[in-house]
Amino acid sequence: MELAALSVRGSSDPLPPKAARETRRPSGRLRSGGQFHGGRFGFRVVSRDGLARLGRLTTPHGEVETPAFMPVGTLGAVKGLSQDVLEAAGARLLMTNLFHLLERVGPDRITGLGGLHEFIGWDGPLAMDSGGYQVFSLAGLRRVDDRGVTFRSPHDGSTVELTPERVVEFQEQIGVDAAMVLDECPPWPVDREAAAEALRRTNLWARRSLDRWGADGDPAAAGLFGIVQGSFFEDLRLAAAEDLAGLPFDGYAIGGVSVGEERELGRQAVSWVAPALPDDRPRYLMGLGTPEDLFHAVSLGVDLFDCVLPSRNARHGTLFSSTGIVRIKKARYREDPRPVDPACGCPVCRRHSRAFLHHLFRCGEITGKVLATEHNVRFYLDFMADLRRAIADGALATFAASRLPEVGPEGEPEAERR
Ligand SMILES: [Zn+2]
Repeated sequence: MELAALSVRGSSDPLPPKAARETRRPSGRLRSGGQFHGGRFGFRVVSRDGLARLGRLTTPHGEVETPAFMPVGTLGAVKGLSQDVLEAAGARLLMTNLFHLLERVGPDRITGLGGLHEFIGWDGPLAMDSGGYQVFSLAGLRRVDDRGVTFRSPHDGSTVELTPERVVEFQEQIGVDAAMVLDECPPWPVDREAAAEALRRTNLWARRSLDRWGADGDPAAAGLFGIVQGSFFEDLRLAAAEDLAGLPFDGYAIGGVSVGEERELGRQAVSWVAPALPDDRPRYLMGLGTPEDLFHAVSLGVDLFDCVLPSRNARHGTLFSSTGIVRIKKARYREDPRPVDPACGCPVCRRHSRAFLHHLFRCGEITGKVLATEHNVRFYLDFMADLRRAIADGALATFAASRLPEVGPEGEPEAERR
């Protein structure tokens, strides 16, 4: 039986027998803890500014206004932030990661604890990356063929096999609201032949994922996203988008970007793919980027984003602000009484000075990283909220002229570049 072979071999937490999974479902999934909101996955465009869309995404755990930024909680938590802080910052939709959760927890334990929402204490919508990017970045990658991918676990050295069916089943079982298919994500540079082969396999897997997604009846009212690959070859990207657009996915992800390419090349890929995807379904750009990257993709009609940049940069002392990047460890902030960003309404900016954060970072005090992360994640969420308002007002062009020069690394003020 194929599904049995899909389990994690050598793991202490294997997939339970199918019968056990099914009997556990009614109490262990979406209706756990009274958190099920009853909505079905859906998407509606509310208004437009050029190609950009203001949208409303409905999920089993509530609605999300798009364009939206999904903070990345790889293991179920954004590094350094409690779910309370995330909620207060305005996060609606969290991105989690199958690869890491499968490796470290396993579906059985999560299901036994009431499903993913219950386990991580998040009542709102949850999305999950299938982990293709992580798997194909692994040194211990052992085999990739049409059946799936086998790799050596970086966690405990065991042999792990992922197949498209297994990836979909895992996400269904633990109750995510927006699931991703398994894809083959080649690095860059890659030759055309290899890119075409990865694309062929990704789209083969996409069909098998859809078959599996509906196999148990109602697929949890959640949404399944196909992932467009094709590297940085325009004809491959367009062929991939056209092929997947003909399949009944609930949403479409643009994968295979931010894999080592020049920024301009990544933007080109988005400009090829986004307009080629079905207009009535959400589009998600995987793993990007700076505020400027987000603006660029939004203006091409992308609706969902996730990126570790705000949280990772925060831990390194690089803070976003409406007037440019603040590298808080620099000596110039030692006696600076201003908040990180005077225009920011986050609790960190309301309460603390740059001088205090500088002091915490210089002393290696963990609170410095926590506060910096809270600010940066809030900055991204506020940036997206401002983008949504601009789309509603038909004012994206004004937004680009007034806001973009000041944010992100490219908008770093002259004084900061020294
Ligand atoms: Zn702030």
